[in-house]
Amino acid sequence: MTIPTEPIGSIPRPGYLVEALGEHASGRLDADGLGELREKALVDTIKRMEETGSPVITDGEQGKPSFATYPLAGLTSLAPDGVVIPFADGHTRQLPRLTAGPFRYQTYADSYLIEAKKHATKPVKQAVIAASAIGLIYPGEEVAGYDKEQFIADLVNEAEADIRRSLDAGANSVQIDFTEGRLSLKLDPSGGLLQSFVDLNNAVLDRFSEEERAKIGVHTCPGGDQDSVHSLDVDYAGLLPTLFQLKVGNVYVQLASETEPERALQVIAEHSRPEQRIFVGVTDPINPRVETAEEVRDRVLQAARFISPDRLGTCDDCGFSPFADDTSTSRDTAFAKIAARVEGTRLASEALD
Ligand SMILES: [Zn+2]
Repeated sequence: MTIPTEPIGSIPRPGYLVEALGEHASGRLDADGLGELREKALVDTIKRMEETGSPVITDGEQGKPSFATYPLAGLTSLAPDGVVIPFADGHTRQLPRLTAGPFRYQTYADSYLIEAKKHATKPVKQAVIAASAIGLIYPGEEVAGYDKEQFIADLVNEAEADIRRSLDAGANSVQIDFTEGRLSLKLDPSGGLLQSFVDLNNAVLDRFSEEERAKIGVHTCPGGDQDSVHSLDVDYAGLLPTLFQLKVGNVYVQLASETEPERALQVIAEHSRPEQRIFVGVTDPINPRVETAEEVRDRVLQAARFISPDRLGTCDDCGFSPFADDTSTSRDTAFAKIAARVEGTRLASEALD
């Protein structure tokens, strides 16, 4: 039995690219100059990810400004003062606020996939942002001439197009990043906000066939930025039963950094749907120590006691650098952790034969 293993998405950008992004933002480097360095980073990232032996790769999100905001880059109807996301170490990230309609994505994720596939020799997965995250840009007060209902209708269309275009462009799978799911229980412990997020994302997923949904997944995590998190203290028992309502075939669950992984595995065993494959996180991007292959193997074998091996997969707990300017983890560490994930998953596959 071969247990599938996949990355989540991002790899820290090389120093020259982080610098170039800053230069471009301040007008000292033109789009062509930035594009050249971006391609250089993309080529190097794909080469190194393939060298880890990972059977499925990503582009390391070298071209995304962040996992959440890529559809918004260049949109002129935005103000900077949107929802603030506080992290455990005290730092924050702030989303923009929509100031006018109609809302349209400026970039679809297939643009990254098409570039990656020019250089990749292995299957490429593509991460997209959940509609429920982009929904947070609509302010509490109604936008003049563009009510929330119109916005949601446009958003569902755009989020559907984002997924469909990646499937059409040949993504091995499409992963919906849903970090705000766990965060929502901090903002609203009753679970009402979480349920509204799941309902919105299911309105998007309803547009896909069973066959297509088998290639669509969702990623849950407590956030990961500058080696900190926003919702690790939220109990999985509150989150996962609702999250498994999402009409997806694959669920990518952060688990390596959980203090009580068996408790989380028990919840997964009880509440995941039979058609869902569960990719458990076996490496922790927040922890600078590189896992050994044996540690990874043992984490997989632990999970296999709760989840049937034919429904099991492995992944990293999260992306290694969801925001382009986050250089808290080195590229060498990220690739070493991925190599450990691949080798440890192979060892577990052998042990389960
Ligand atoms: Zn994540």
